[in-house]
Amino acid sequence: MAFGHRLRSLTWRITALLVGFVAISIVIMAGLGYSRVDQATEEYSAIRIDRAARAAASITAATLPDRFTVLRDREGRPSAIQIIREDKDAILAPQPAYVALLSDIGAVNQGAATLFRLNPHTYAFDRFGTTFRGPNNTEPPPFSLGPSHPAYAALSARAVHVGQVPMLGGLRLAYFIPLIDISGALAGAMSVDIGWVDELVHRRKELRDDIALWAGLILAVVALAGGLIAYRQMRPLRALAGFAHDLAATSDSRDVPGLGRNDEIGFLAEGLSRVAELRGNLERLAYGDPLTGLANRARYFADLSGLLAPTQSSSRKGALLMLDLDRFKETNDAFGHSAGDDLLVRARDIILAELEEGDNLARLGGDDFVILSPNVRDEVQAQDLCRRLIERLAVPIGLPQGEVHTGCSIGIAMLPRDGESAEEAHRNADLALRQAKQEGRGRFVFFDHELHAAAQKRMTLARMLRHALENDELTVHVQPQVRLKDGRLHGFEVLARWFHPTSGAIPPSEFIPVAEANGLIPALGNRVLDEACRIAREWADARFEFGHVSVNVSTIQLWQPNFVAIVADALRRHGLPGYRLCLEVTESVFVNHGEAKVMRVFGELRALGVTLSLDDFGSGYSSLGYLNTLPLDQLKIDRAFVSGVDRDPRKRSLLAGIIALGKGLRLELVAEGAEKAAEVEVLRALGCNLVQGYYFAKPMPHRLAQAEAERIRKSLRQNGKTRPERAGVAAA
Ligand code: C2E
Ligand code: MG
Ligand code: MG
Repeated sequence: MAFGHRLRSLTWRITALLVGFVAISIVIMAGLGYSRVDQATEEYSAIRIDRAARAAASITAATLPDRFTVLRDREGRPSAIQIIREDKDAILAPQPAYVALLSDIGAVNQGAATLFRLNPHTYAFDRFGTTFRGPNNTEPPPFSLGPSHPAYAALSARAVHVGQVPMLGGLRLAYFIPLIDISGALAGAMSVDIGWVDELVHRRKELRDDIALWAGLILAVVALAGGLIAYRQMRPLRALAGFAHDLAATSDSRDVPGLGRNDEIGFLAEGLSRVAELRGNLERLAYGDPLTGLANRARYFADLSGLLAPTQSSSRKGALLMLDLDRFKETNDAFGHSAGDDLLVRARDIILAELEEGDNLARLGGDDFVILSPNVRDEVQAQDLCRRLIERLAVPIGLPQGEVHTGCSIGIAMLPRDGESAEEAHRNADLALRQAKQEGRGRFVFFDHELHAAAQKRMTLARMLRHALENDELTVHVQPQVRLKDGRLHGFEVLARWFHPTSGAIPPSEFIPVAEANGLIPALGNRVLDEACRIAREWADARFEFGHVSVNVSTIQLWQPNFVAIVADALRRHGLPGYRLCLEVTESVFVNHGEAKVMRVFGELRALGVTLSLDDFGSGYSSLGYLNTLPLDQLKIDRAFVSGVDRDPRKRSLLAGIIALGKGLRLELVAEGAEKAAEVEVLRALGCNLVQGYYFAKPMPHRLAQAEAERIRKSLRQNGKTRPERAGVAAA
């Protein structure tokens, strides 16, 4: 975890800082101490050597007053020892007296004392007496102090030399006093020393090593103990940082560590716990559905995106089940919204009971639920789950307001096969759900690529249709409605036609639903209405007895707020009386709209003189109750009841019933889709006088209508019955 790493390095940094400070302190302290010791040692040595020289001179003069006297400088330091007798050669020779003298001096110095005689031939100072001893207290080898010796130059100039001199491979701090004869000429030298200088150097080195060793030890202890303490002290902070990190990165909530501590960490923990609480509330608001407490759309999309993220490596990621309650709207309408809410909550419980740990249920709004199930691994499992859900939801649900029969339809997308992104998976599950509903509710459908292709095709078609409408590429054909009695025309149905430049003729059964689903139907319908009125005007002007024009009105078009005004305007612009126009509506106008509203709009249309026809009667919702109350003029019997009626006695009975019903209600009856003479004969026999069908004519361009009408009339008259000459009929 990245933050853990950073935090560890914080511990390291604190420890390093601590060690750094301690190291600098040690270096400063030790350096200061060391240099003080060094200075003190040096001063001490200088004092000692000075004292040694004074003592040596005094002892010499005091022990042998008849031979030597001491000459001193202004500070009283001995500057030379003078031989006060003439026989200097005799005096500067080895004698037992000197052994005693030198050993006295040496004892006082705690060093060595030596006497030299200047050799007049070599000008070197030959040693003739010393207390210095070699290793194991042996007599040192004979020695002459020559020009290479550091004291030689000073002594030659009859001056004192104080400093380090080499001796048997080592260094000693020595004081050399020149010996002069009675005349003042240089005769020899006396040296005293205070031992090995190396000793001091050695001691100093030892001190340095000690300092280094102890400094290292102290630093190690500080680093170890400091690091450990820093690490331990950081532990609650680390836990808190981990919590903060999780809080930011995930939605898992856990207890805030360090809560209740009476220090900064405790404060921090308290603040974080407040933040966590706020975030929880925010999440509930942002990602929750207030009614059911389930995840909402935003949460669902986030979960779906998370599941489909490329980092989730598994090749099978579960299934997306989109579920829609059947007849939910009816419950809402029948029992009110609170019943609808209750039903949703009950449905939630029923669905949840079928889900496993790890499955996510969300409500996207209305009665749309969606299950995101990582547990469903294949189609078989998905099927099982869907069957259980459909079965459980098909059972009537008792609500305080009454018992409701709902049910559900489910669309399934397998993940990631049916969607690599959240949008794609959602869209595909939705396509499958729509298909399930279209196939008749209470069922489930798996997404497949044909569904997608069909949706794609609808989209392309919508685009093309929009373009065609903008460029006025749509035309109309007309199909006559024939009066069997006299072969005259009752009217023409005006039907939209679309000849696409590359795709050719696209049938209304394809483009009308697309127009309805894409908001294009008002434009299309108004265009057809206008064209129908224009044609009617043209025919009327040409004194062609066409009866009326019938125009199909889609339910969506009818419920435009200004539809009545649009119809009135079309009539006015083309100077057409209302009775020349018949509007065909389907039974779907009764769905989702109250009777009062239908009555009002129908009433307003009829006030314009327009007649109203119920198209495709018997094929749809068939709410017979409305037939009695609504201001309708005409029923168009659906083709399904006409085609093959000559050979099917049951169909014949049905048709007879419908005709009787229409007549009983005093409605005009037009039979659609008669293709054969036998069918027309049955219609005639059952008393249906108005027929629209391929038998007489297919839909045709309106300019052919007059000639076709003439042909139909003639042939009907000639044959007396229903045998028009089948010639020159335009193709649909
Ligand atoms: P519809 O209003 O029921 O129109 C009658 C349909 O039956 C026409 O199909 C017509 O060609 C067809 N038809 C008539 N006689 C026969 C026959 O003997 N045999 C067979 N097999 N079919 C026959 P079309 O033109 O393909 O139109 C289909 C549907 O599209 C129409 O059914 C209508 O619902 C809709 N439609 C057509 N034009 C418009 C329009 O301008 N606006 C609206 N809203 N819908 C339209
Ligand atoms: Mg129609
Ligand atoms: Mg019809």
